[in-house]
Formats: sequence, C-alpha cells, structure tokens
Amino acid sequence: MKYHSTRNNNDLFSPSEAVLQGLAPDGGLFVPQELPKVDFATWIGLDYQTIAKRIFKIFFSDLSDQIIAEIVSAAYGDNFDDPQIVPVHLIDDQIGFLELWHGPTLAFKDLALQFLPHLMQAAKKQLHFEQDILILTATSGDTGKAAMEGFAGVEHFKVIVFYPHNGVSSFQKRQMLCRDYDNVRAIALRGDFDDCQRGVKQLFSDQEFAGEAATAGYALSSANSINIGRLIPQMIYYINSYLQMVTANCLSYGEPISIVVPTGNFGNILAACYAKAMGLPLGRIHLAANQNNVLADFLQTGIYDSNRPLVKTSSPSMDILVASNLERYLYLKKPDSEWLKSLMRDLNVSGKFQIDPEILDLTASWTDENETSIAINQVYQSYEYLIDPHTAVAYSAIAKAGLTGLTLVASTASPYKFMEKILSSLDKEIPPDDRQSIETIAELSGQGIPQTVSKLWRLPQDKEIVISADQMAKAIFDNIKRK
Ligand SMILES: *Cc1c(COP(=O)(O)O)cnc(C)c1O
Repeated sequence: MKYHSTRNNNDLFSPSEAVLQGLAPDGGLFVPQELPKVDFATWIGLDYQTIAKRIFKIFFSDLSDQIIAEIVSAAYGDNFDDPQIVPVHLIDDQIGFLELWHGPTLAFKDLALQFLPHLMQAAKKQLHFEQDILILTATSGDTGKAAMEGFAGVEHFKVIVFYPHNGVSSFQKRQMLCRDYDNVRAIALRGDFDDCQRGVKQLFSDQEFAGEAATAGYALSSANSINIGRLIPQMIYYINSYLQMVTANCLSYGEPISIVVPTGNFGNILAACYAKAMGLPLGRIHLAANQNNVLADFLQTGIYDSNRPLVKTSSPSMDILVASNLERYLYLKKPDSEWLKSLMRDLNVSGKFQIDPEILDLTASWTDENETSIAINQVYQSYEYLIDPHTAVAYSAIAKAGLTGLTLVASTASPYKFMEKILSSLDKEIPPDDRQSIETIAELSGQGIPQTVSKLWRLPQDKEIVISADQMAKAIFDNIKRK
C-alpha cells in the first residue's frame, strides 16, 4: 500500500513515511492509494486481534507479519478491561452500543492511541530514522490523555498536548495533569479547540520552528486523527462488531446495518466510510452532531460554513467547527486534488466552501443540550444503562434520522468522563468532589469503579500551565529543555 496527499496524488509515500510525517508536506492529508475490496464474510468468527492483524497487513504493508503481530498483541491486550476489546451492548433487538471505552483512558481514542506509538516505533526502525520525535497534539479533551497514555515512557518520543483552558471536563483535566512519565505533558491554551488545532497546524508548517526543533534533536509528528495511523485502527471495530452481530445471529451476512457516530473531527465516522468502501455491508452511516452543527448543515446543504460562534456543550469532544478529516471524506467521494485544493483555499480565506451535495452519501442531524439530557435519562430509565453525553447525542439521532432495523451507536466515552451532565440529567445532586460523583456513577451503573479511575487519585497532579496561542513555541521549547 502506498499513500499520497489529498492535494496531490502523484507523489507516493510508504506507510511508514506517512505515519511518521503525520501531515503531508503540501498541507494535505495522507490517504491510501486504494481501498481494496475484501470479502468480509470469510472473516466471520475471527477475534479482534486477528481482524486487526489482517487490516494492518493491508495498510501497513511495509512491516513484517511478525512485527504486526507483536504490535497487535501489545496494543489490544489486558490494557483493555474487556477481553472483547470493543463489546457490543444491545439494549433491545434493534439498538446496540459499540462500547469503545474499555481502554486505559476511557474514550474511543484508546483504540488508535494504544496502537500508534508501537506503529511509530516500528516505522522509525523501518526507515532507520535516527532523530527523536516530538508529537504535538491538539485535544478537545480525550485525545490528549489517550496520546499521553499511549506514549508514556516510550523511548525517543516526546508528547506535548494542547487543550482549551476551561474547555474540558474536570475529570479530563485531572487525567491530563496526573501522569506517570516525564516524556508526556499537557498545556492549556486560552481559546477553544479550534485555536489549539490551528496553533498546532501552524507550527507544523513553520520552517523556523521545525529548524529549532531539529537543532534540539527532534523531528515533528502528530497524534491527531490527521495521522493515517490513527484512522486505520478505527476501521477494525466496525468490521468486528458487524461480524459479531452475524455470529450472534442478530443478522445474516450481507444484511445492512445502520451506524450512528457522534462526530467532531470526522475521524471516527470516516473509518466507517472506509470500512464500507472496502465491502463491509453497512447501510446508512449517520452523523450525529451537537449544537456545533456545522457538519450536519454541510451534509444537508453542501455548504460548509465555519463562521459561527463555537458553543460550549456537555459533549466537548465534538465542540469543533473545522473538522480536519472531512477533507479525506471529500477525497473519497471525489478524488480530485485540484478541486480539493480550491475548497481548502476557500476555507482558509473565508471560513467556508460549497460543493454539490449530490456526492454526499451520509445523513446527519444534531441534538441540543436538553435533548441530550432526555436521551441520557430515557436510556437509563428504560434500560438501566448509563451513556455519556457524546453517546447520548448519537442515541438521540436514531429517532431524528428515522433509522429502523439493527442500528449500532458508537459509544465513544465512559460515563465517568462526563459525570456532571449525567447526574444532572438524572436529576441527581452534583457533589462538590469528583470522587463522590464517581461513587454515585458506580452505584447507578451497578459496576465497579474501573482501575484507571481510582488510580487518578493516587498520582501527583501537575500545576496547570496556561498560555496564549503566540506562546506555544516557547512553551514547547521550555518543556523540551527541562527534560
Ligand atoms: C473524539 C471524540 C469524538 C469525536 O470523534 P471524531 O473522530 O473527532 O469525530 C466523539 N466523542 C468522544 C467521547 C470523543 O473523544
């Protein structure tokens, strides 16, 4: 498999090159040269790890089978607290939740970020790449800790994440400020997630910054879903859960199921599109947005307009107005680099672009705060099942979209990450201390407190560093030098 930029399909890159570079040199995103058709019927009965190996063999074809096998067993083992890695929780015979939060940081990002560090190490060896790697990452809350956890203690890698000051939940903040290792660090930025993402992207295209980093001994890379190494692993759970449903006799192979994905940066939903393009019998793929409904509007009208205020919601991982992976989706639907370049130019200059909505094959809807609370409440009252606000946004979308038949909802975060919204939706008092909320959530869910949650109160907590966008480079070098 080779990769090329969405903005230029002439220059080809090996998988290892694409993974280490993160962003393509022209500012576009790496995409696979093709999405080969697979007869997934022959994969029925395989476990998560075996599916992972087969997918990685296709997409990271410059790594040996043995290395892929080692990476997979390191990435998807007892670091997940469920042996199925991503179990499907059916609440009735129509609706199932894809529980993507059994990893160490309790959000779906772990499915990719428990894997990416191993992949990057292998890519580094493959290319005989000598320099250390500095990973810069913007986070709306979940990617940050997942990247820190994935790279914790990994030699020759340093991770610095930027999160929006006052834009993450108190639990998320505690997660990022409590760490076991010195090579990972979180810094708060005055602004929102888009400011963090823009700041990081600017540093990536800043020659002077790259030069200084090189002098300090580092090459730059990214752990955001702009990295193709983040996206490929996300296809696995769609394939695995479809086949699980077949094995459980919920459907016969070939019958379409619907997928609903709570979306922010468009990575998770794009992985579903890729799996479908490879032949997985998915029916409708529905995009669920919160009040920051720029993507829902786009899918309905073909007009992408990010010129609107960003609203802070209870599903902060979706508080995003510029979704980077949309560029890959557009390329999938219309592989025309010149066209994409002009759209991205429009987006840069005016914050918007317009296309013919005919080529778009996803449906979309959005959910406000009140509806989110209703969904949390309803699912708990009817099924005694706790869902986090992101998952609740997706659950709400089922009725809005009029989805019928078997529907799988991507459940992207554990309820522990967003306790306040859950408690208020269930008309419970919100205790002053997160620790008490944790006890309440555990009681409501009827399950024990996960290890990774209780551990957070045993680790020392960093003092929060708060900077403005123009201080990012300085903060990074201060941090590197302190190593
Ligand atoms: C990151 C995240 C999302 C959004 O996923 P994208 O791939 O950015 O669309 C949704 N929910 C949670 C809990 C997340 O952490």
